[in-house]
Amino acid sequence: IKDIQDIRNLTRIVPDFPLKGTPFLDILPIFQNPRAVEFIINNIVDHVTSTKEKIDVVVGLEARGFLFGPILALRLNAAFVPIRKKGKLPGKVIDVEYQKEYGPDIFEIQEDAIKQDQNVIIIDDLMATGGTAVAAGKLVKKLGGKLLEYIFVVELTVFDGYKKLDAPLYSVLKYD
Ligand code: IMP
Repeated sequence: IKDIQDIRNLTRIVPDFPLKGTPFLDILPIFQNPRAVEFIINNIVDHVTSTKEKIDVVVGLEARGFLFGPILALRLNAAFVPIRKKGKLPGKVIDVEYQKEYGPDIFEIQEDAIKQDQNVIIIDDLMATGGTAVAAGKLVKKLGGKLLEYIFVVELTVFDGYKKLDAPLYSVLKYD
C-alpha cells in the first residue's frame, strides 16, 4: 500500500444494495489488508495531530464507525465512545431522530460518555448526505462536548453533505 489510490482500489461498488437502484460503496475489502487499515489510520492520525488540539474522545457511529474508531482512539490516547441505534445501549441515554436514505432512524449515546468541554471528533466509514453525521454531532453537543471535526474514510461528494455539517470535515478519500 503506497498511496490513497491503493486504498481506493480496495473498495467496490455493489449495485442494488440495500435497495434496488441504489449503489452501495463497500469498504470492507480494505480489512482484507492490514497494511491498508494501517495506512488509513496513519493518514487520519497525521491529519488530526498536525492541525488540532489534543483529542479527548473519539466517537464512532454504528456500525462501520466502530471498525475505525477504537483503533484511532488507541493511537490518539483518547477515549472511544459509541453512538448506536435506538435500544442497544444500557443505562441512561439521550437520543436524536434523523433521516436516512431509507427512512427515519434514532441514534443514542450514553449520558455520561462525554464530559463538559471535552474535545471530540466523530468518525464514520462514509458520508453521503451528511444527515447521520449531523445527528451524531447534536448528541455530542448536547452532552457539552466540543466537536472539533467530522472524520470519514470516504466522502461521496455528489450529495454535498459538507453543506450540512456544523464542524470541519476531513475525509481520507473522495468519490464523485
Ligand atoms: P448519510 O447520512 O446520507 O451521510 O449516510 C451515511 C451513513 O450511511 C453512514 O453511517 C454510512 O455508513 C451509511 N452509508 C450510506 N451509503 C453508504 C454506502 O454507499 N456505503 C457504505 N455506507 C453507506
